[in-house]
Amino acid sequence: MKKRGSSRQPLTWNWMRWGSVWLFLILIGSMLLPQAALAQEAAGESEKKTVYLTFDDGPSKNTPDVLNILAKENIQATFFVLGNEAESHPDLIKRIVNEGHQLGNHTYNHQYKSLYTDFREFWRQIVKTQLILEQIVGQRPALLRAPGGTYGNFDANYFTYLAEAGFAVYDWDVDSGDSKRRNVPASEIIQEVKKSSLKKNLVVLLHDGSGHGESVKALPSIIKYYKDKGYQFAAIPSDMKPVQFRLASTSKWKKAGISLDTAEELLRKSVAAWPNAAGERASTITALHIQRGNTTWQLKPGEFRYLEDQYYVQLRALTDQMGGKIGWDAKTQIASVEVGTIRAEIDLKQHMATVYLPRDEKLHIPIDIHMDSNTTQVNLRDFMSVLQYHVLSYAEEDQKRLILVE
Ligand SMILES: [Zn+2]
Repeated sequence: MKKRGSSRQPLTWNWMRWGSVWLFLILIGSMLLPQAALAQEAAGESEKKTVYLTFDDGPSKNTPDVLNILAKENIQATFFVLGNEAESHPDLIKRIVNEGHQLGNHTYNHQYKSLYTDFREFWRQIVKTQLILEQIVGQRPALLRAPGGTYGNFDANYFTYLAEAGFAVYDWDVDSGDSKRRNVPASEIIQEVKKSSLKKNLVVLLHDGSGHGESVKALPSIIKYYKDKGYQFAAIPSDMKPVQFRLASTSKWKKAGISLDTAEELLRKSVAAWPNAAGERASTITALHIQRGNTTWQLKPGEFRYLEDQYYVQLRALTDQMGGKIGWDAKTQIASVEVGTIRAEIDLKQHMATVYLPRDEKLHIPIDIHMDSNTTQVNLRDFMSVLQYHVLSYAEEDQKRLILVE
């Protein structure tokens, strides 16, 4: 009993001592904080006010006119494009990117009912559009805009899942009203913009889809209006905090419920469509070299991807490079791979590899693997452990990535 008492004594003393240290720190902190806030405010005042013009539903035959106006004014903007329009106008997607504007994903076909009654359909359209854009300009955008905006359309799950996949979902501050009915006249669009309240940063909703010729006509006056008010213009930077409407208490749509597991499985399966924050970074890298002793295996761009700090490689391409054999059973979703003395069966559904070693030994190794546009993408580190290698180091030199294994 005595012992316990004596061990308690210093503890109480410790609490008192640390308590006073904390009190001291809190006091100092509260003295410094107002000054810090003031300093921040002063810095904010000197920063310029910015308008982020956004154009939805294109590209269409109106897009070149919009791009010409933006070029003439020397300003950048953001285009939330539809996958089906991108398919029909790949040259305009290229022009948007080449002229320094930002691309965003606006789903494939903009059909509210199918998009908002089932997240699986929403995600399918996002993925499809990402892959179309990647094909055209090598970018998988991080920006996303919900057709019709998120309010009443998204539930909390839509927000959660899309954030998990790395998307920044953008609504807007200023609705130009150019899509509230067909052929809203330019004068009305301009009036609508001028009626909206002003603040430091403004995301402005406009449309460059077909049937939006009046928006094009209104654009020069809208730009002039904001310039006269002292605003600068910019494309939405990928690290800006998104403008989002609050979550509606009731949804306009009855949604098919899917479990969190189902959703996560869905997201994981199409990890290859997740945004690449730096598309330009990927395009400067010419090849992936995997070196073991004196042997080097080389993968071309397109045969590998770098996502979330991990390399994913095309299973077939790497197995071929290594002089191995590969077979695929579509019915069981099992790939069989033979490299050197190692034979493995990789179950795509179970994410599990059964490895047959020489001398009848058998191992089970979990493996991150998924199917994407008819090719099988496998996590490089996992695949190396299936082959009984391990990764020693990663390096980047002269636009090539070198991975050493042993
Ligand atoms: Zn739209």
